[in-house]
Amino acid sequence: MSPRTASPAPLEVGDLAGDFAQALAALSGTSPLSCYQCTKCSSGCPVAGRSDLRPHELVRLVHLGEREEVLRSRFIWECTSCHTCITRCPQKVDICSMNDTLRELSLREGLVTRHTAAPVFNKAFLDSVRKRGRVHELGLMAVFKLRTRRFLEDMDKAPMMLAKGKLPLFGERMRGRHGRESLFRRAAQAGRAAQADVAAQADAAAQADAAAQERKP
Ligand code: SF4
Ligand code: SF4
Repeated sequence: MSPRTASPAPLEVGDLAGDFAQALAALSGTSPLSCYQCTKCSSGCPVAGRSDLRPHELVRLVHLGEREEVLRSRFIWECTSCHTCITRCPQKVDICSMNDTLRELSLREGLVTRHTAAPVFNKAFLDSVRKRGRVHELGLMAVFKLRTRRFLEDMDKAPMMLAKGKLPLFGERMRGRHGRESLFRRAAQAGRAAQADVAAQADAAAQADAAAQERKP
């Protein structure tokens, strides 16, 4: 009778995940570590078929600490925040919130893929809302086209939108500019504070890892 051999210890996702997954969980308020790769999110995601990653693949890359590949992906920008994934997910992993955080990190670290114009659109949209209190579509379109040089793209839709009054020449301006400025400033401060927290957590985790390595015989 052959001697019984001890089975290897099971590999836990928590063992695989490094600082990136931990920091992302802290910053986004949802845990990628709960995902067990059932792929239900991807089967319902409206952009999974046309993007460079599917939702469950993004989460797996986070598990594996593939920070740069994640932050350079188109998928984080193409997510429409439709919430289908979290509705279907048995573990309630909020990929939508993760993507919000990943976009912010991608912008801060200068890793935005050149295959997306979403950040340019987002900035033009927010600038318009900050200035006027609501978006001015014609101004938004002009700024977007000037910044991306996509002058002729979608131009066939302009006559129909003009005819239906969807592109007014002068947009409305809402009152409360000071209130809006304060709102945007507070949001920016909160974002910076959260980033500082995560950086501190990542440093602490790295120091703890280094100390544990040194203690090993
Ligand atoms: S549905 Fe949830 S558990 Fe399943 S792969 Fe997607 S994120 Fe992971
Ligand atoms: S929220 Fe984003 S990732 Fe989730 S299903 Fe919608 S598009 Fe896909």
